[in-house]
Amino acid sequence: MNELREAILSNKDDFFSALENLSGAILILFDNEGKILDHSPSLISLVEKSDTLKGENICNLVVDNSQALLKRFGAKPVRIGLSDSRSNIHLVSGFVMLVDESRRLFLGVKIGLSAGDIMESMSKVTDELASLTRELARKNKELQAANKEIERLMNCDPLTGLSNRREFMNRLDKEIESLCSTCKPLSIIMADIDDFKRVNDTRGHPEGDRVLQLFADVLNEIISPRRTTVRYGGEEFIVMLPETTSEEATEIAEEVRKNFERETEKKLGLTVTASFGVATFKPSDTKSSILKRVDDALYSAKSGGKNRVVR
Ligand code: GH3
Ligand code: MG
Ligand code: MG
Repeated sequence: MNELREAILSNKDDFFSALENLSGAILILFDNEGKILDHSPSLISLVEKSDTLKGENICNLVVDNSQALLKRFGAKPVRIGLSDSRSNIHLVSGFVMLVDESRRLFLGVKIGLSAGDIMESMSKVTDELASLTRELARKNKELQAANKEIERLMNCDPLTGLSNRREFMNRLDKEIESLCSTCKPLSIIMADIDDFKRVNDTRGHPEGDRVLQLFADVLNEIISPRRTTVRYGGEEFIVMLPETTSEEATEIAEEVRKNFERETEKKLGLTVTASFGVATFKPSDTKSSILKRVDDALYSAKSGGKNRVVR
């Protein structure tokens, strides 16, 4: 063994570079006081120094709890932490060999990730997570908007943009529920375009569609957007008027009737009229009973000669 030591020491430079090239080994020769006598170039790059570390004390490189380990020597492996210029800790595993009375050689290899490597990986992971979170938030917003749009489409009549029957039924339930606590009147207007089949037959289906859209335009002009205007079926419409008496609802229906007749004449060059029923919620009413009464009123308007409002 002594001969091997001598051989190593007499060919130190070649030995160090050969060993380092082979395995990326880190070699540090130091005296009993810890002064570094020589080292492999790999130590400089590991601890990120620009110049030789010869003359420095090994204790300045090795983290506190590793210093005692360097005093051990023999076949028992030691694992030491070397601190670089940015205070990152690199773990190096190896052996301390006694060269002679006053010199020791540490021979080791870097293992695992340094604290700096870990920090770097962590910061990459954190960045990745942050960008994923942003992406998720964006997707979530898109999904919410899509859900809102789906809900709007589910509750809306595509031809006129008015609420559909499904939406009306839901809103009527809620209105009736809240009526019980507020005791305020709730009126409903039901309208049906007169002789609409004839419009389709004489002017064609697209023109019939335009008449339906015109009826919706008239409703939108007269009725506040906070109220529910509904395409209830083919050429049947409903207006739900909370906090509106029977007289007020009849006046509103009358205004719609007149405007619709005038607008079809003006915009489409043909006179189309509509009939209207009005009903106001009574304490004994249910959803179906008020719908029946408004339907009955509409029927009376039709049988009374059409183009009129009946309540
Ligand atoms: P009344 O005065 O008694 O209400 O007679 P009407 O002709 O208006 O009633 P009827 O029930 O006989 O005809 C309604 C017509 O409405 C029949 C149907 O083809 C038409 N219709 C239903 N939905 C649409 C639609 O979306 N567009 C068009 N253009 N026509 C429709
Ligand atoms: Mg009808
Ligand atoms: Mg009709």
